[in-house]
Amino acid sequence: MSERRGTADAVWAELVRRHDEHVATHGYDGTVADHNPVAAVLACSDARVPPSVLFGQDAGSLFVVRIAGSSATAGAVASLTFAVERLGCPLVIVLGHTNCGAVRAALDDSPDPVLAPVLAPILAPIDEMLAACRSCDGDLDAAVAANVAHNLRRLRRNRGPLGTAIAEGRAVLRGAVHDLATGRLIEVAG
Ligand SMILES: [Zn+2]
Repeated sequence: MSERRGTADAVWAELVRRHDEHVATHGYDGTVADHNPVAAVLACSDARVPPSVLFGQDAGSLFVVRIAGSSATAGAVASLTFAVERLGCPLVIVLGHTNCGAVRAALDDSPDPVLAPVLAPILAPIDEMLAACRSCDGDLDAAVAANVAHNLRRLRRNRGPLGTAIAEGRAVLRGAVHDLATGRLIEVAG
């Protein structure tokens, strides 16, 4: 057995143990069976920015869509549309964070020739944003904020039911960047 496999097995066993311990300690809240989230969040997959933890929310509160780079891809838009149209979410949040590896990869002038094509579904939307960004110019912090603003605009301009819900005020858009160094939440207009 490889060391990595042994580590993975140990991590999985610990996660299962913690899951069962959590349920035993807190009980299983049957109200969670009602799917009635107060907000939908489009966030990065980065392990350091879990929306429910950062916003101090329990299970059942946030409908979370996570993709590296927080991009409003077709799949993400479909999920957010479901949250607004079927679950009645009144608030949609785009959450970025400083030191984002996906945005950094898109800024990289010499991408990995093997990995870059595979990562294209993640990097292409960020590349598109960078191509139109006058303030980015290799600046990671500026690019992260611009990326949140870009994705807010994409959601606002959505031609489907989600865009209609936003235009009619049934869903409100908010954007923010979580600063990993300070823990502060910096609001982003878009
Ligand atoms: Zn990220």
